[in-house]
Amino acid sequence: MSVQSHDLHLLTGAYAVDALTGDELDEFEKHLEQCPTCAEEVRGLRETAARLGLAAAIAPPPSMREQVLDAANRVRQLPPSGPRTLTAGLTRPARRLRRRLPRPIAVELLLTGRRLSAAEAARWGLVNRVVPAGQVMTAARELAGAICAAAPLSVAAALEILRETEATAVAAGYAIQRSGGLPAYQAMLGSADAAEGALAFTERRPPVWQGR
Ligand SMILES: [Zn+2]
Repeated sequence: MSVQSHDLHLLTGAYAVDALTGDELDEFEKHLEQCPTCAEEVRGLRETAARLGLAAAIAPPPSMREQVLDAANRVRQLPPSGPRTLTAGLTRPARRLRRRLPRPIAVELLLTGRRLSAAEAARWGLVNRVVPAGQVMTAARELAGAICAAAPLSVAAALEILRETEATAVAAGYAIQRSGGLPAYQAMLGSADAAEGALAFTERRPPVWQGR
C-alpha cells in the first residue's frame, strides 16, 4: 500500500458529495474499483447525504411558530387525569360533590378523578342547559332576557330568600322570611311593582315594572 493510495482512502466523503474534480476524481475512481472498503463507505455516505437532503427540504413555514404560540394561548390546559390519592385539598371538593350529586356518582368521581362531560353535568342537574359552543352567548342572552322581563325587586327578593334559607330546614326558612330581617324581600312586599303586578293580571295586560 503506497502513501498515495493511503491518502485516497480519505477521499470517500468528498467523492460521495461530488466534491472531487479533475485528476483527483480520476485517481479516486480508479482506486474505488480496487477497494471494496471505500466502495462500501461511499454507498453509505451517499445514502446518508440523500436523507439529510430530504430532511432539510421540509422547512417549517415561518407562520408555524406564531400559530403554535397562538394555539397555546387559546387551548384550555387540562389537569393531570387518573386516580388521585387522598390529600388535604380533596376534603372540600368531596363535601361539595356529595351535596350536589347522587352519592354513587360523587364517589366515582372522587375515587377515579374522572371528569364530567357537559352532557353529563346537565343530566345530573349541575347546569341549566348545554348548547353548541357557537350558541353560548345567544342562549345566555335569551336567559338574561327572561330574567329581565320579571319584576326586578322580585328577582332580588328571590335570590335573597334562596341565599338566606338554603342551609336551613323548611320551617326555619319560613320563619326567617316572616321575621322582617330580609331587606330585599321586605322592599318587594310593599312596592309599587307588587300592586302593578296584581293590577296588570286583572286587566289582562303585560305589567310595566319600575323597580320600586
Ligand atoms: Zn480505499
